[in-house]
Amino acid sequence: MSACATSPAALRPVLAERGQREVFCGLTGIVWLHRRIQDAFFLVVGSRTCAHLLQSAAGVMIFAEPRFATAIIEERDLAGRADLDDELDRVATRLIARRPDIRLLFLVGSCPSEVIRLDLGRAAARLEERFERSPRVLAYSGSGIGTTFTEGEDACLSALVPTLAPTLAPAGREAPARLLVVGALADVVEDQFRRLFAALGIGPVDFLPARRADAMPPIGSGTRYVLAQPFLGETATALERRGAVRIAAPCPLGAEGTRLWFESIAAAFGIDPALADGVLSPPARRAAAALAAPRARLAGRRVFLFPDSQLEIPLARFLARECGMILTEVGTPFLNRRLMAPDLALLPAGAQLAEGQDVERQLDRCRAARPDLVVCGLGLANPLEAEGFATKWSIELVFSPIQGFEQAADLAALFARPLARRALLEV
Ligand code: SF4
Repeated sequence: MSACATSPAALRPVLAERGQREVFCGLTGIVWLHRRIQDAFFLVVGSRTCAHLLQSAAGVMIFAEPRFATAIIEERDLAGRADLDDELDRVATRLIARRPDIRLLFLVGSCPSEVIRLDLGRAAARLEERFERSPRVLAYSGSGIGTTFTEGEDACLSALVPTLAPTLAPAGREAPARLLVVGALADVVEDQFRRLFAALGIGPVDFLPARRADAMPPIGSGTRYVLAQPFLGETATALERRGAVRIAAPCPLGAEGTRLWFESIAAAFGIDPALADGVLSPPARRAAAALAAPRARLAGRRVFLFPDSQLEIPLARFLARECGMILTEVGTPFLNRRLMAPDLALLPAGAQLAEGQDVERQLDRCRAARPDLVVCGLGLANPLEAEGFATKWSIELVFSPIQGFEQAADLAALFARPLARRALLEV
């Protein structure tokens, strides 16, 4: 089956819900973005709540030099906006004076009303001028009012896109084709992907975000981009505005998903299918073999996915097709049918899709379905565990390297582990 055709499965009905949500805000993305862009600093302009969220999401991390912080805007700052601007300038200037290693400073907005009133875009432009573009200063919002969990990365990357250099074309000629892989990946995954692209003869290959601020890729009409994460709708739009063309592909999760992802890219670059088969078959076979052990625990078990990370649809595809799980409900905070079409087309018929959330109603449906495993956010996991459900925290899926052939079995094991733990408890 073509993964990218619009099949009846891709057009399946979706239960749309608008009610109380139980999700983290976009600030959470800082936890994995600061690991990826190794000379960036994320300065959250927010409240003590924001500082606490970041600390708890980041867990116990010991840094010689931390690379995120919160400039706490308190009630006493409400006297006037000019004071807030001055205060922010003072904090940023002190930071840059102390930390000349910072090459890219992000001002990250949050929910408090006094922060919303601040024009962080203007503040970023003002500071960048003051620092003579060293470092670059960009702004985006991670506010819980406007963003959920993974949208923080989308907001961050779409703020980066306008700053990318244009690709250069020889006089009178089209810019040569180059591949751009979009979405923050663990370095180990990037290295594996680079090796496979080299074996396929695809290049040059860039990754957005790059590991360092001065290595951000150029972009232009020769750029063919592919998403490595499904939650980057704004970034995709920003890239297309710069002339990049998307390669539609399912997410590179699991042996099948990764193979289809590479095959879609290889086809877009005109690579001989026999060559692609020769390069991709050995790692795909190894990944499928490694999946056998976790699959033995997962096959035939029922899974319910609450909307949280926006990875739910590709995960559901992986859990159903490669791990033999039965999907009861697949929730997603937003459904971008254009970007998700290749994964939607591969979902088994009969899986209930839900977009948005009305958490109490969804909890009722979950209890009625009695799944063996619930994939959900931290806020729901503890109460559900107390009710006897095995749960998997979806936040772990964005903190762990899960893409690619070599991670397929580890990804399945993340879901098998809560079932194994519960089986031990029941003995
Ligand atoms: S941005 Fe809003 S939702 Fe997120 S931690 Fe700060 S106050 Fe809470």
